[in-house]
Amino acid sequence: MEQFPSDLKITALAGGVGGSRLVRGMAEHLSPQQLTVVVNTGDDFVHFGLPISPDLDTVLYNLADVAQKVEGWGIQNDTHACMTALANLGGDSWFRLGDRDLATHLLRGEWLREGLSLTEITGRLARALGVYHAILPMSDDPCRTLVETDGGVLEFQHYFVKERWQPVCRGLRWQGAENARPTPQVLAALQEADAVVVCPSNPFVSVDPILNLPGVRQVMAGKPVVAMSPIIGGMAVKGPAAKMFLELTGEPASVEAVAAHYGDLLAGMAVDEVDDPLVESLSRQLHYVRAMPTLMLNREKQIEVAADFLAFVAEIVAEERTARA
Ligand code: GDP
Ligand code: CA
Repeated sequence: MEQFPSDLKITALAGGVGGSRLVRGMAEHLSPQQLTVVVNTGDDFVHFGLPISPDLDTVLYNLADVAQKVEGWGIQNDTHACMTALANLGGDSWFRLGDRDLATHLLRGEWLREGLSLTEITGRLARALGVYHAILPMSDDPCRTLVETDGGVLEFQHYFVKERWQPVCRGLRWQGAENARPTPQVLAALQEADAVVVCPSNPFVSVDPILNLPGVRQVMAGKPVVAMSPIIGGMAVKGPAAKMFLELTGEPASVEAVAAHYGDLLAGMAVDEVDDPLVESLSRQLHYVRAMPTLMLNREKQIEVAADFLAFVAEIVAEERTARA
C-alpha cells in the first residue's frame, strides 16, 4: 500500500471496535514509523483469574487481520469449546472467551507473573501476530472504569456485557486513578506526533480514561488534535455512546455534543456526511470541520475513510505550520 503523506507522524487514541476501524484503515496508509496507537485499558478486568484487556485485544486482532468480521472483536472463526464446557460445569458464561482468544489471556497472565509490563506483553503479542505498528496500553497501572447505576456501582464489563449497557449511567469513576500514570512510551509518542487523532471511540469510557491520565492533556496542548465523530446523525453506530450523552450530560448525542465534550482539546473534527448540514454551526465551535463518509463497516471502507480523514489531518497540520511560521 502506498504510504500517505510520507513524513506525517500520527498518534491515535483508541478504544475498541470504533477505534480499531479507523486505526486499521490508517495502518494501510501510514508506516509503523508514522502511526502509533494508544489504547484504553479502562475496560480491563480479571476473569477466571485471567487478565483481560478487551480494547487492546480488539486493536491487536484488527491490525493482525484476525478479528471477527462483523462484530469487530474476538477472533474470526474461533471455537468456544472451553466456554461451553465451563457453562456445563455451572460456570459463568456471560463473557464469552473463544478458545484461541483464551491463549492470549493465558499468556498475558503468565508474562505478567514473570514481571513483564502490559506494554512489553502487548509488544510481544503484536510481533507474534505480525503487527508492526506500535500498540501502546495507555498505562501499565490498573485504572478501571466503574459505572454508577441506580442498582449500584458496576465494573465496566458487568455493565457493558453482562447488563448489555441497559442500566442508566449516573456517573463514571476510575478505580486506581490516583496511582495510574501514562507510560513513558505513551508520553513520548504524543510528544513526537505531528497530530493526535481521537478515534471515533466512546468519548466517556474509551477516550476520557486516556485523557484523564496525568500529563496527557499537557503533552497534547498546542498540537493539532483531530477527532472523528463516533456519533452519526445523533446516534451511535454501536454501544452506549449516545445513551451516555443523554444520561451523563442531559443533552442528546450529536456532533455538537461530541465537540463540546472535547472542548478546547480539538483543533478539528471530521463528521459524517449525513451531518453535513451541521458543519456551518459546528465551525463556530471548532476551527476545522469537514463532513465526509465515516462509516467503516468493512476493510475497504476503513481504508477509503482513513484516506480522506488523513488528507484532512495533513491539511490541518500544514495550515497550523504556516500559521506558526
Ligand atoms: P468499544 O470499546 O468496542 O465500545 O469501541 P470504541 O469505544 O472504540 O467505539 C465505540 C464507538 O464507535 C461508538 O460510539 C460507535 O458509534 C463508534 N463507531 C463504531 N463504528 C463506527 C464507524 O464505522 N464510524 C464511526 N464514525 N463511528 C463508529
Ligand atoms: Ca471498550
